[in-house]
Amino acid sequence: MSRSAHPAGPRHADVLPEGGPAAAPADLNRLDGRVWPGGAARDPDTGALTFAGIDVRELAREFGTPAYLIDEDDWRRRARAWVEAFGADADVFYAGKSFLSVAIAKWAAEEGLHLDVCSGGELAVALRAGFPAARLGFHGNNKSVAELERAVAAGVGRVIVDSHDEIERLAALAAEHGVRQRVMVRVTAGVEAHTHEFIATAHEDQKFGFSLAGGAAAEAVSRILKHGEHLELIGLHSHIGSQIFDTAGFEVAAHRLTEALAAIKRDHGVELPELDLGGGLGIAYTEADDPAPVVETARRLKEIVARECDAAGLAHPRLSVEPGRAIAGPPGITLYEVGTVKPLPGLRTYVSVDGGMSDNIRTALYDAEYTVRLVNRESTDEPMLSRVVGKHCESGDIVVRDAWLPADTAPGDLLAVAATGAYCRSMASNYNHVLKPPVIAVRAGEARVIVRRETEDDLLGLDLG
Ligand SMILES: *Cc1c(COP(=O)(O)O)cnc(C)c1O
Repeated sequence: MSRSAHPAGPRHADVLPEGGPAAAPADLNRLDGRVWPGGAARDPDTGALTFAGIDVRELAREFGTPAYLIDEDDWRRRARAWVEAFGADADVFYAGKSFLSVAIAKWAAEEGLHLDVCSGGELAVALRAGFPAARLGFHGNNKSVAELERAVAAGVGRVIVDSHDEIERLAALAAEHGVRQRVMVRVTAGVEAHTHEFIATAHEDQKFGFSLAGGAAAEAVSRILKHGEHLELIGLHSHIGSQIFDTAGFEVAAHRLTEALAAIKRDHGVELPELDLGGGLGIAYTEADDPAPVVETARRLKEIVARECDAAGLAHPRLSVEPGRAIAGPPGITLYEVGTVKPLPGLRTYVSVDGGMSDNIRTALYDAEYTVRLVNRESTDEPMLSRVVGKHCESGDIVVRDAWLPADTAPGDLLAVAATGAYCRSMASNYNHVLKPPVIAVRAGEARVIVRRETEDDLLGLDLG
């Protein structure tokens, strides 16, 4: 592999575009422990990345690239940390939409998590895994009658209802099945949180939830209580956003939810036993992100709910939370091979990998930021301002917008992108008829394919000519 074929890319801080990347890190080989999974380390002899005890060059040879790798111990450790931090008087629902497979559902069950699904497909995966139905929550603003029926028949522990239409459908289905389905009402608390800020007066022009302020939530509660024979209202639910780094937004939401619980007690004489604050806790995609430890988050959320309920004269409801990214994101990385390196003089160097927006749509969709490292070897070459891009026919096909890679990065090298365990495989597409990568769980030096790579036969099997 030629190390001198790509000489002309800009390499120094003086060419940084405005609003562009932070200055190059001092050490391009370093793996920050907040960004990389616990099982990721440089082999002191070869400089290559070892992942849960296996050299990534070996993983690339055996399973090909691109590939999603999950550090199974790290995944389980994070799951356990959430369950333990929230304790016996709360429930932690893993948001399956972040990434769900049969193996993942089994890990979730084994580590004491509950599980949220939000489609018939996710429900099917959970049921295939034998996940205890009583520990399932079913979300969605437009669950079909068939999906609701399947949930009721399976004995799903809670359906989080999101429309008046759904209330009527669900009541009818529960009656048909002769059951009393436990439900929560999803409310919009008028809080919207994203990353470092939250808006306490977010307008409610969105598809999810019943408005607290506008009275739709109160109306939904009344209708459910009227269907009391077949619907058991257990509480209120709110989800305020994603990639949130402090509890200020949750505090405002909890205050408004507690007011609503007090109003329900006043109007209907019932004290709802549960409260769900949703998910959205942030993770470190880059060294600039600094999420609080989960024990800290748990302590604050429980404190907030206790204080609000005391002030409103309510018994403390059983709390639930729904982390997705915070459990599944950090343990996962994506391994790519570099195919082409294109220096654009005066701009930057485009480094193309063998995947892209089909395996990670988040950069194109949300301007997400990621950390990328050269991982088949170390390099002491100088930093090269780069953009890691995919192989799709779309100029927005960017994996890492602003990256510093060693200037000798060349075709055949392996790159790893950190924190891709959530919302990458689960949002993967077949754009350009590119095949979806496999998901490989690695634990104590053993690698296991938990979702195999798609094949051309898989793709062509759908095409009936
Ligand atoms: C997406 C979602 C979550 C999980 O969000 P994360 O950012 O992955 O923690 C939890 N609850 C609901 C209702 C969601 O829509």
